Amino acid sequence: MGTLPAVRASRTRGVNGPVSTREKKLKYVYDFTEGNKDLKDLLGGKGANLAEMTNLGLPVPPGFTISTEACKVYLESGREPAALRDEVSAHLDALEQRMGRTLGQQDDPLLVSVRSGAKFSMPGMMDTVLNIGLSDASVAGLAAQSGGDERFAWDSYRRLVQMFGNTVLGVDGDLFEEALEAAKRAKGADSDLGLDAADLRKLVGEYKAIVAEQAGRDFPQEPREQMDLAIRAVFDSWNTERAKLYRRQERIPGDLGTAVNICSMVFGNLGPDSGTGVAFTRDPASGHQGVYGDYLQNAQGEDVVAGIRNTVPLAELETIDKASYDQLMKIMETLETHYKDLCDIEFTIERGHLWMLQTRVGKRTAAAAFRIATQLVDQGLIDEAEALQRVNGAQLGQLMFPRFEDSVDDAAGYQRIGWGIAASPGAAVGKAVFDSYTAVKWSRSGERVILIRRETNPDDLNGMIAAEGILTSRGGKTSHAAVVARGMGKTCVCGAEELEVDTKRRRLTAPGGVVIEEGDLISIDGSTGKVYVGEVPVVPSPVVEYFEGRMHAGADEADELVQAVHRIMAYADRVRRLRVRANADNAEDAARARRFGAQGIGLCRTEHMFLGERRELVERLVLADTDTERDDALNALLPLQKADFVELFEAMDGLPVTVRLLDPPLHEFLPDITELSVRVALAESRKDANENDLRLLQAVHKLHEQNPMLGLRGVRLGLVIPGLFAMQVRAIAEAAAQRRAAKGDPRAEIMIPLVGTVQELEIVRDEADTVIAEVEAATGTTLKLAIGTMIELPRAALTAGQIAEAAEFFSFGTNDLTQTVWGFSRDDVEASFFTAYLEKGIFGVSPFETIDVDGVGALVRSAAEAGRAVRPDLKLGICGEHGGDPESVHFFHRVGLDYVSCSPFRIPVARLEAGRAAAR
Ligand code: ADP
Ligand code: MG
Ligand code: MG
Repeated sequence: MGTLPAVRASRTRGVNGPVSTREKKLKYVYDFTEGNKDLKDLLGGKGANLAEMTNLGLPVPPGFTISTEACKVYLESGREPAALRDEVSAHLDALEQRMGRTLGQQDDPLLVSVRSGAKFSMPGMMDTVLNIGLSDASVAGLAAQSGGDERFAWDSYRRLVQMFGNTVLGVDGDLFEEALEAAKRAKGADSDLGLDAADLRKLVGEYKAIVAEQAGRDFPQEPREQMDLAIRAVFDSWNTERAKLYRRQERIPGDLGTAVNICSMVFGNLGPDSGTGVAFTRDPASGHQGVYGDYLQNAQGEDVVAGIRNTVPLAELETIDKASYDQLMKIMETLETHYKDLCDIEFTIERGHLWMLQTRVGKRTAAAAFRIATQLVDQGLIDEAEALQRVNGAQLGQLMFPRFEDSVDDAAGYQRIGWGIAASPGAAVGKAVFDSYTAVKWSRSGERVILIRRETNPDDLNGMIAAEGILTSRGGKTSHAAVVARGMGKTCVCGAEELEVDTKRRRLTAPGGVVIEEGDLISIDGSTGKVYVGEVPVVPSPVVEYFEGRMHAGADEADELVQAVHRIMAYADRVRRLRVRANADNAEDAARARRFGAQGIGLCRTEHMFLGERRELVERLVLADTDTERDDALNALLPLQKADFVELFEAMDGLPVTVRLLDPPLHEFLPDITELSVRVALAESRKDANENDLRLLQAVHKLHEQNPMLGLRGVRLGLVIPGLFAMQVRAIAEAAAQRRAAKGDPRAEIMIPLVGTVQELEIVRDEADTVIAEVEAATGTTLKLAIGTMIELPRAALTAGQIAEAAEFFSFGTNDLTQTVWGFSRDDVEASFFTAYLEKGIFGVSPFETIDVDGVGALVRSAAEAGRAVRPDLKLGICGEHGGDPESVHFFHRVGLDYVSCSPFRIPVARLEAGRAAAR
């Protein structure tokens, strides 16, 4: 799938345009016996799987599927393809022959459902109408054929008018619900079962009146007209606002269209020996095999989902109807063996006869995905390579967040007050604050806070950074809060609509009158969207405990999940070609990265080594007027730098460590220009101006930049501040020599940032080679330090062949490369207009999260090729945040990089995805 599905969609959509070129001599309609499960593009998921079950010999009511191609023609041209009507007629004739009655036949009506079904499941997004074919003329015939069950016939008819009126004719569904409620009240009935045939007949009359009034037309009595209108309504339901929004959020392309399934009706509402239900072949939460599902006696399919009556656990079907139950269990086994995966199922029992109405490979929790994959390997149903495709890095990532204790939901004392959208995972606890200023102020004084807003905007950024988590009452997965929180890796629940946020009075009111004032403790779960009053205890993720080495997969305490993760990770490590390194700047992070499976450091940023007390040395360096002053400052920094590297090389002994020379603009190490100006002005007014401050202010002014991202930084610093890079190289070389003397195995690599042209690299390289030679001579060791560069500017990528002449390795800095290729500064754009871009579908996902394959990716690919053409053994890696993003990892695998480097916490995800990419 491309990264810009929505844009593509809107380009192909046109209203009432000329008849599409797509409309060639195509076949648009397929009998259930003609399809199979691999035809989801053409028949949609529901249609493909109905066909598959039909061909497996399972009891599926006969029917046919109108392909997504027909829908596409309709969406493009505003008209059904010309050939469709005749094709539908031919299939309907065949169906009628087979069933021995015609659609809506007066004395014995054939009824059908008209069901939507796209390639990807979009639960509840599109329309389905049951009981098509029923009319004033045939309702008595239906009653007679059902053995005189008048109630059943009128119940079916009122359902048709209701569903048809709502979904096809666009009548507000509440009007029907209200009429139904009124009928129940009049009868003193507490469910629809309390209404008899006469009541239902009266209700049908009322429903028809509602339709006539609201839709401006009568409910159509002609069966074929009912069917054709319903088909068109299903096509139209592809483009409802909620369907479009759902697709954007789930990144489903907008131009796929939906298929339409015409399926002969079976009736679960024929009395207590009938019913309808849903089932899973195993538990979608734990993966355990067993009987999971719900059953509802005397009901039609839509009742289960609508929750209008209480269902019973599926296991009870065994006592209600043992024969059907046994048959269902056998079918579930057949399906699992056939699909080699967890399936979910819709079924209906009509007077003791079981019918299968839907199946598909079922959704599951992240934990269940890992367990099921290994369970299926153990059952011999799938192999290890397939097991890797059954899980993904996003699921593994979810399992690595700390979470609230399992018992929370039922335990007294933890009151859940809201349930919003799980926008950015994690569990966060803190004091409620309602504005950014307070969030920052309180967090500075050491408080943990949760920022609560109706919705956030760029002004809230500082508060979001200061908060443990963010809670909003409005907005979905692409709202500002959600996008920015995900970018920061911060817990976020958004769109908790039942919570009333009053920022003026600094309070939140939950249903039932619970009030949270500023300062009250609140807990939010960004993995489930749940919001609790008070402090809910947080437990570390067992999966992280395992990666940390605090829990062993073989040990007794290891739960099933940890064992499953352990096995899957082992498969991934066995097959992957990409190596995985860490972005780590100190020995502690390096050690953790190693525990998590890092095979080296791909990016050690040296700027963190210039902070704290060392800032003052940087100031001296900047202020130096003479060579001596400058050398003094550098000489003071050298031993500190060297000590940092010694520790790091020791932690990563035997593995490569890529050290990047100083990258950020120097003014980042100097005092803030405003603060300093004020200080100097105050001092001057007191006539005691401090000489040093004055010089500093001058320097700060000189170094001040409009666009620091594009200013004096990276290799440019190395070229204009004499001795800076040489000092860093010397520190690396001496540290390596010291480790060597201590019988260690240091493997340092020196990386020059922000190179745009080979000349820059050559100059720095010559200087570095000289320094290294000096250290080698002085210590009597051969160091073999590799020197390479980051590729993070478009010009570097475009001249990669030249640059490769002077570089032993490339590391793609995809953060800066994304900024410079798109021409935007991340900090500015993410907070200001990314939300709008995501909402308009310009991005499916932020290019800072997932590599923009078509733009930035194309440069990576061509630079890799050009570099390798010049220097076949050129080592290639990537060290942007994309190194830990699942989709991006697959891309880096495809373009042939040697390794990805990411933050220590993302390493398991990168290992897993690298394995999945290789096993594919
Ligand atoms: P959704 O995709 O929203 O589940 P479906 O097309 O599956 O919509 O239909 C909605 C409900 O109606 C389901 O419970 C389904 O099992 C039931 N249903 C659909 N077609 C028939 C049919 N021909 N006979 C009986 N029930 C049906
Ligand atoms: Mg369904
Ligand atoms: Mg960079």
